[in-house]
Amino acid sequence: MQTSFGTGQANRESTDLAFTDPLTGLGNHRRFFDKVDRLISDRADDPAPFTVGILDLDGFKPINDLFGHKAGDDILIQVAMRLRASMDGHSTVCRIGADEFAFLYPMVFSEDAAAEKSRMLIEILSAPYDVGDRTARLSASVGCSLFYSGDETTEILIHKAETALYHAKRSGRGRVVVYTREMEEAAKRVTRIEQALRRAVSAGEVEPHFQPIVDLNTRRTIGFETLARWTDRDLGAVPPTVFIPIAEERGIIGPLSQLVLRKATEAARSWPKDLFLSFNLSPSQLVDQNTGLHILAILDRTGFDPRRLEIEITETGLMNDPASAEKIVEDLRRVGIRVSLDDFGTGQSSLGRLREFHFDKLKIDRAFVSSILDDRPSEHIIRAILAMCEGLGMDVVAEGIEEEAQADRLVQFGCAGGQGYLFGKPVDADATLGYLRDSFRGALRAKAI
Ligand code: C2E
Ligand code: MG
Ligand code: MG
Repeated sequence: MQTSFGTGQANRESTDLAFTDPLTGLGNHRRFFDKVDRLISDRADDPAPFTVGILDLDGFKPINDLFGHKAGDDILIQVAMRLRASMDGHSTVCRIGADEFAFLYPMVFSEDAAAEKSRMLIEILSAPYDVGDRTARLSASVGCSLFYSGDETTEILIHKAETALYHAKRSGRGRVVVYTREMEEAAKRVTRIEQALRRAVSAGEVEPHFQPIVDLNTRRTIGFETLARWTDRDLGAVPPTVFIPIAEERGIIGPLSQLVLRKATEAARSWPKDLFLSFNLSPSQLVDQNTGLHILAILDRTGFDPRRLEIEITETGLMNDPASAEKIVEDLRRVGIRVSLDDFGTGQSSLGRLREFHFDKLKIDRAFVSSILDDRPSEHIIRAILAMCEGLGMDVVAEGIEEEAQADRLVQFGCAGGQGYLFGKPVDADATLGYLRDSFRGALRAKAI
């Protein structure tokens, strides 16, 4: 027979279990909410603010995949130990998701102090982790919010910290962001754009525009890059630098891309057959094995010759999951689609990437071209890139050429391809046909002379 004492202990143990994360022994999300609830009621008569934060490990999933789940668990236990050791007597840290931790600092009263404390946590987590006889490194991002007034609930405070975390993640790895009201406005705007974009994609309202790519020596147009354009009836014209990242993040990029590629290949069918069509793929599309199938199905349906299609990808697109990207690229290349490396020289460039992957073409980023006339380092970098492309047997296109003098200098360095406002801005399918007719007439006139 159980004594009442025994039952009480069992109850307490099961309550403890309900509030504890079994892997790390830290409190779980229930414990965290409970602690914040209590602190809010304690502060009912005390105007002192306090801080909550959410910390998310950057790139934990690839580590888990690379080292295995057991090693992933070991790392999480080490992370938990470090976080616990860094808390003072007043503070609490809990594990509230797979690789997400939350902390509560009752004695941190200002945004600066919250950011400072968070940076310290990131620092502590950046030291190497033992995984068997190997070591792994991790970084972390943190979003914080401060409790200022009695009207705020635990849910609101945590939601604000999550919004701040979202901004931290968006701006790169290892960042700390403290919540501000403008962030909420920005988050609402993103949601508004997302909803309008979903509607536009299903109504077929995103249009391809085309920008000429020319042979710099003859100035003859050799192909066009497809650039997506979208005008919403309420939001107006939304630039691709805004809607493409939102489409990626919210899972709309696949259907959007298919719509634009279908319209673009339909338009390009009536162009002269020696012109190529170039098309941008987003990083998240190189993680999705259906991308290749979708592209091939569209080419099949519109009857566009795959040998006239080029896809442009960036180094970021290759970094997330190189094996997946390589498989997609190989599938496309097998049917004759060419592959360009876009925006070269920005982002996390790695020359090693050029050894692992074979690209048919490299596009030199506008940042170098725009400073070629007055910046010696840019000039040297462009010359080095051109020499490298020649050695590796890659074609080159310099992007963002706006002035004759820039084009001249590039020709002088031996750059064969160019693109930029000097030769033509991106325009819609009808205007592109007009442009082609004009260049064709020009060519005829030149012959007659
Ligand atoms: P990108 O692929 O590097 O495209 C070149 C960008 O430079 C385009 O901006 C183009 O309008 C702009 N540009 C071209 N020449 C000049 C110039 O002489 N001066 C200046 N200042 N700009 C020039 P846009 O159209 O705003 O597109 C921005 C980015 O959005 C593209 O960069 C590409 O990464 C992405 N994007 C556009 N359409 C698509 C799409 O259909 N799918 C995907 N995944 N991404 C797209
Ligand atoms: Mg491009
Ligand atoms: Mg580019």
